[in-house]
Amino acid sequence: MASQFQALRYLAMCTNHHCPPKRLSPLYSAPFVRRVVRFLSSSSPRRSPKPFAPHTQVFRDVDPLRKWRRDLLLNNRTLGLVPTMGALHEGHLSLVRQAAAENTDVFVSIYVNPTQFGMNEDLASYPKTWEADMKILTVLDRELASLGAGRISAVFAPSTKTMYPTLPPDSSIPGAGSFVEIRPLGQLLEGASRPVFFRGVATVCMKLFNICAPDRVYFGQKDIQQTVVIKRLVKDFHLNTEVRIGPTEREKDGLALSSRNVYLGTRRRNVGIVLNQLLRKAEAQYNAGKRKRGDILWPANDHADKTLLEQEALEPGKRARFEVDYISLANPETMEELEEVDEAKGAILSGAVKMLPLEDAKEGEELGVGGGQIPVRLIDNIVLDPVA
Ligand code: AMP
Repeated sequence: MASQFQALRYLAMCTNHHCPPKRLSPLYSAPFVRRVVRFLSSSSPRRSPKPFAPHTQVFRDVDPLRKWRRDLLLNNRTLGLVPTMGALHEGHLSLVRQAAAENTDVFVSIYVNPTQFGMNEDLASYPKTWEADMKILTVLDRELASLGAGRISAVFAPSTKTMYPTLPPDSSIPGAGSFVEIRPLGQLLEGASRPVFFRGVATVCMKLFNICAPDRVYFGQKDIQQTVVIKRLVKDFHLNTEVRIGPTEREKDGLALSSRNVYLGTRRRNVGIVLNQLLRKAEAQYNAGKRKRGDILWPANDHADKTLLEQEALEPGKRARFEVDYISLANPETMEELEEVDEAKGAILSGAVKMLPLEDAKEGEELGVGGGQIPVRLIDNIVLDPVA
């Protein structure tokens, strides 16, 4: 099921970017791809042996969604909200499954929020795969129906005018508009590299929580600093919702799933695993009893340096260069850097690397969407649990 969803997304991206079929990932066999194309182009799901009535409502405006939500409340139903920016993959779906296991109803929001993208970031090229996303959610809702779990009762896909009703969204640092800021937490790590990112995230989540009034909200551990920001938002603004965190969904070799992975192509994807590898090296140090920052992080830094040198030594047509943005060992509540891990609290190991545009792309090489020319920022993390 997971690979079917990935293929759906990949094909949707290729359709959007007009990439020739020969660039389809070798992960998918030709008959499988044909099946997925048939599925994508069919208007009704064909695999269910039982009649299945899709019942997911799509809302674009606030008032009808609120009425829908009020009716749920009056019927003693519970609501889990899964905020997304679309381009759905198994990471998103695992959150929806979790929400459906814990609530009678799930809302999925699909909105690419402009205020969390800096002026020079990839807002324009961010993948938008609405039709594939809706197909994926229909398949998933059918699965949930057969399990007797909660159902995806609404998809909220607002316009930017709906989300920013007064002033147009402003991504500049001085930013005109109504914003929520969580300081200094939102300025560290991801926030240091992307100064408006957490202001945008906290602001859009405050809006979504106010609109949907969810009993529970679901976020992925993949974006761990985001989960810490959201917990703080809920606590400091007394929001009446419970924050639930789902585990990071990964490829077999450990690469964290991300909507942006479709841009990597094979060469950068194979080197991009360096981030997960270096975090695991640091984790092994903690598991071996090391508590001091230097002792935990040195093998991680060493692995990054060696991999970088290896790539630099290759000819341009064979290498995938990258820049390490940060490798962090941080306090799990504040994300401040630690000199030593307190065993009673544990810590968060996290990192970010930027995969640079490919050099000397070869004829027939699988380059990913965008021809390997879109820089891709990868993030990942591992939680170091407290020692009992
Ligand atoms: P996005 O659409 O990237 O904003 O992500 C929407 C939600 O999905 C966020 O809570 C993410 O943390 C979560 N998410 C993204 N990738 C993964 C993943 N690989 N595993 C689990 N959750 C994920």
